[in-house]
Parts: sequence; structure tokens; C-alpha cells
Amino acid sequence: MRALEDLPPLAKVIAAHGLSARKSLGQNFLLDLNLTSKIARQAGDLGGCDVLEIGPGPGGLTRGLLMEGARHVLAIEKDSRCLPALQEIAEAAPGRLTVLNADALDLDPLAHLTPPIRVVSNLPYNVGTELLIRWLTPPEWPPFWQSLTLMFQREVAERIVAQPGGKAYGRLALLAQWRALPRIVMHLPPGAFTPPPKVSSAVVHLTALPEPRYPADPKILERVVARAFNQRRKMLRAALKGAAPDIEDRLLSAGIKPTDRAETVSLEQFCALARRMPGGVEA
Ligand code: SAM
Repeated sequence: MRALEDLPPLAKVIAAHGLSARKSLGQNFLLDLNLTSKIARQAGDLGGCDVLEIGPGPGGLTRGLLMEGARHVLAIEKDSRCLPALQEIAEAAPGRLTVLNADALDLDPLAHLTPPIRVVSNLPYNVGTELLIRWLTPPEWPPFWQSLTLMFQREVAERIVAQPGGKAYGRLALLAQWRALPRIVMHLPPGAFTPPPKVSSAVVHLTALPEPRYPADPKILERVVARAFNQRRKMLRAALKGAAPDIEDRLLSAGIKPTDRAETVSLEQFCALARRMPGGVEA
């Protein structure tokens, strides 16, 4: 039996299994094992943790996660062509890798994981934002994960960490920053991937906070934020017209000028507004 470090280079694995990249599956592979180990290390100490990886592909990051000491990796891959390559990794790390051939959007991974759980993925770009929003809006907090370490297009990464006052600031920043601490921890040029995508990428590490940063009902906060940014160029008194009676008074009592636009309003102010909306604690 081969050990992890004796597995063939990824370029050979791809050639041996005929894994030509498919655009429809967002396939841009990482072939440099030093780089995949570096990404795995951004997730912190993986010893004693189960790791959920979405889209392992030929397994470059999977190998990094196992070499960095993950207790167990659950890898969910939609493309069945990748399974034989992943099986070779599973044999080199007995009992530490489970591969499921499934669509990550359809599967509840929790049945296969034991806490503490960290999520580490080079996500398919076409499903990355949707998965992130799901992970940030579970029915209960704290969520099933301790941290998320995820590759995004750089522009999406910048939206996750954005502060008020710029174009990047919006729903994604507020969702990510309300109950988690997001940081961009790595930038990667297109040439780091095979084939290279058109845009640069970045790895974002998000740590789950035990409690939301400011109190608010999650559903009401999400509704207010979605409505405010749906018409981000409008003043809030217009964008939120109809969201509640006396919206101008509610805005003022949350410390927001009715003539402000959504992109200048802080997370703290949005939470204060959510608490003053019908159904909010102080409404
Ligand atoms: N992790 C590998 C790496 O770093 O080289 C591959 C990353 S590639 C950007 C994205 C991977 O996600 C591909 O292997 C693709 O087949 C897989 N994928 C795409 N959509 C998926 C989905 N809905 N569920 C699970 N896997 C998916």
C-alpha cells in the first residue's frame, strides 16, 4: 500500500484518469501540492477535526488536508470521473477519507460528520456563493462548522470582507460579518490553476462567532438587508417604503438618516433597524 506522500504527481493522476477539465463543472484544478498544503494550513489545526470538502476533483487539496493531519475528510464530488483518483487517496490514508459522488447542493453532509467540523474547499465558482449563504444562514446558531476556508473569485472574496462605503459592500458582507469573522488569507493568480480561469482568486477564512455581533432576528435582518440593497441607489426611506409603517421614524430611531443609501449603513445600524421592524424585539 502506498503512503500519501508516495502518490503520483497530480498532472500524472489527471492524465492517467483522463480528467480533462469541464467548464460546466467549474473545473480549475490546483496541481501544486505545496500550494494545496498551504491552503489547508489556513484552516488552522486540523488534528482532531472532521473536514468537509466540496469538489475535491483529482484530490490536490484533499491530499493537502490529509497531510496536514485532518482526522477525517468527507469529500463530495459531482463528477464521477474523479472517483478512481480519489479512491487511490482513500487507500493511502486508511479510514480517513470518505468520498460521496453527489451534488453538494442536494446533500446534507451532517449525517457523515462528527464535530468539531471545519469546511475547506476550492469551490466550484458556479455554486460557491450559494453554499456560503446556506452555511451562513442555518436554522440555529452556532452552525455545524467552526470555520470555513474557501476559494472564491477575488471579486466575491472582496464582497465578503467589504466595509460600508463602497460598491463591494452589500448583503454578502453583512451576512458574513454578522455572525462570523471573515478574512482574506491568500491571493492566487489565474496561473495557479489548470486550466487558468479568467479572473484572480482569493482564499477567505471565516471563523464562526459564538453569538451574533449585535442582536437581531435573523429572518428580519435578512429581509431588511435584501430589501435595502435591492434598490441600493435609492434613499432608504424609498427602498424600504412599505416594509413597515412609519419607516422614517424607525430609521431615525436606529440612528439612520432616511436619506442615507444602503451602502453607507453599518452592520450595527442594520441590526438596530431590524430590532425596530414589526416582529423585531423592540418593534
Ligand atoms: N478541489 C479541486 C482542486 O482544488 O484542484 C477541484 C476544484 S474545481 C474548482 C471544483 C470541483 O467541484 C470540480 O471537481 C467539480 O467537478 C466539482 N463540482 C462542481 N459542481 C459541484 C457540485 N454541485 N457538487 C459537488 N461537486 C461539484
